[in-house]
Amino acid sequence: MVVERFLSVSSKPSLMIIQAQIGACGTCINSNIYEGLDDVYFVAHSLAPERIFKKKTVEDMPPAEVGIIDGPICLQGREESIQLAELVREKSTILLGVGSCTVGSSAIGGFITEDCSRLLPFFCPFLRTRHPKVEDVVSFDYKLPVCSATQEGLRKFVKAVLDNDKAHIRYFEAPGTNTIRAVTEAEACMGCGTCAMACPTRAISFVEQRPRIDGATCIRCGACFIQCPRTFFNAEALSVDRFNQSPDPYLGYYQEMYSARSKNKTTLDVSQDGGIVTDFLCYLLESDVVDAAVVAGSYHGWNPVPQVATSPREVAASAGTKYSVSPNVQGIQDAVDRGFGRIAFVGVPCQVQGVAKALAYPFGDRYYHSKIAVVISIFCMENFLFNELRSIVEGKTEIPMEYVDKMGISKGRFWVRTEDRNVFTIPVKYIESYAQKSCSLCLDFCGELSDISVGSVGSPQGYSSVIVRSNNGKNLFNEFSSLIECSPLSEEGVSTIRNLASLKKTKNGMITRELITHKRWSILDTLVDIINPLP
Ligand SMILES: Cc1cc2nc3c(=O)[nH]c(=O)nc-3n(C[C@H](O)[C@H](O)[C@H](O)COP(=O)(O)OP(=O)(O)OC[C@H]3O[C@@H](n4cnc5c(N)ncnc54)[C@H](O)[C@@H]3O)c2cc1C
Ligand code: SF4
Ligand code: SF4
Ligand code: SF4
Repeated sequence: MVVERFLSVSSKPSLMIIQAQIGACGTCINSNIYEGLDDVYFVAHSLAPERIFKKKTVEDMPPAEVGIIDGPICLQGREESIQLAELVREKSTILLGVGSCTVGSSAIGGFITEDCSRLLPFFCPFLRTRHPKVEDVVSFDYKLPVCSATQEGLRKFVKAVLDNDKAHIRYFEAPGTNTIRAVTEAEACMGCGTCAMACPTRAISFVEQRPRIDGATCIRCGACFIQCPRTFFNAEALSVDRFNQSPDPYLGYYQEMYSARSKNKTTLDVSQDGGIVTDFLCYLLESDVVDAAVVAGSYHGWNPVPQVATSPREVAASAGTKYSVSPNVQGIQDAVDRGFGRIAFVGVPCQVQGVAKALAYPFGDRYYHSKIAVVISIFCMENFLFNELRSIVEGKTEIPMEYVDKMGISKGRFWVRTEDRNVFTIPVKYIESYAQKSCSLCLDFCGELSDISVGSVGSPQGYSSVIVRSNNGKNLFNEFSSLIECSPLSEEGVSTIRNLASLKKTKNGMITRELITHKRWSILDTLVDIINPLP
């Protein structure tokens, strides 16, 4: 039997897929790969509600190239669950365990909650009881400990197996099983906000720019951990997923580079450099390419928070660089919840990594990633927690934060400008030790996984350097470029950016490698791929 409809994208002739729901609860609705696909052999526990009508007989189960098991071992029909799992294992060349009730750890998984299925509260007497995981009785080749997986992600997995796309499949070898407590306790968190976007129960909020889990709401599903860009992260695989191209070792994949500046005086007044991010967002909104932009708002002074801007006025209000952490990826959730479905995202490279990971492995975040229309990265060498930024500004320049009009870093100096236009500068080396510790694990200077990246280095003062990467970014930027001053980036400019990107990779690569080698943080096991491709 051929599953052409299912794998029309796959280059190989295809094969049988078994999907088995081992738990009688029917488990999570989203995980089903079989919907509408005759060639996927779907087999479920005999007590499974609704699905019973689509159930195929266990006896006729064919051998399959790929088997997918989800659900826990049922406490009401334990023997049947185990037999089903063993049979699927026997029939499947490659077996993937999906769901933190199927595969997990002592930290996550096994719990059946109200969220698993709308039918569940009426059906299972073992709600919030820890169920045995299928992993206890059969071995899996690949694991996806999440609640719950999307069809899109599972289809990508099957395609990768059939195409023997090792880089993509590697994620399923070691996504890790934990909550983001493991990341924050290791001080590896850089406050990107991806975990909050992914959390299905909204258990994560940000306190002093770090995620905090509400124990009462958390269902220990592990989605936050597997979506966090500080757990499994393979820049090469993500680049191929995003651009169908391997990355340039220092700059990431790119097509074109420009030096550019807004022609709009108002934009230039409020923006950091050439005002390209602000003007581009205004263009995207005005030409109806997007209906909202997620930016870092400055309504709280220099302590930024994610903001959903829906008009040029709101975009302009968030212009300018805040040298402090804003969990912008969480803003995508806010934008989608407000009904926006074509979102422009602006963030520093680590935030863009969180978005790119959600696009490549769309599991934990369910559908939020699908609402992102364009991703803009700003360059970033390091960032500061707000209290540290305050210590720098008030301690080193002796200017109260409320008098600061603008701050920046250029030509090796950190400068602060007051409202009465006085400028105070200090060498960057005096502020480096204030940077958040997790930035020393960061190998991305210029947002390698964005559609377009914008920074100041490489261009004359008052201009922005623009790196155009994806076809989407190229098409949009080409249309937009007629509205601004724009010329190809000079060779000298390109090499300045390349040198800084290389410096960051070398310096932070050594620190990361050291930490991984000495295994000082257990979560770093999932991060080995971060250093493997280092030049
Ligand atoms: C922490 C940090 C470090 C940086 N380091 C460098 C560097 O070393 N070299 C370099 O060339 N460029 C760096 N930049 C980028 C640079 O400061 C400008 O943001 C970039 O050149 C774009 O300029 P623009 O005039 O086009 O942006 P604008 O038109 O001013 O728009 C800037 C956009 O960035 C968003 N933003 C501002 N602060 C943050 C934040 N903290 N987190 C997420 N989004 C934010 C704003 O909401 C706005 O949408 C850094 C930026 C940040 C936030
Ligand atoms: S997803 Fe981002 S904010 Fe959440 S733990 Fe990971 S690094 Fe921190
Ligand atoms: S915080 Fe949210 S995403 Fe993380 S384990 Fe708990 S419920 Fe799941
Ligand atoms: S240096 Fe890296 S980790 Fe730190 S804020 Fe910038 S992009 Fe994020």
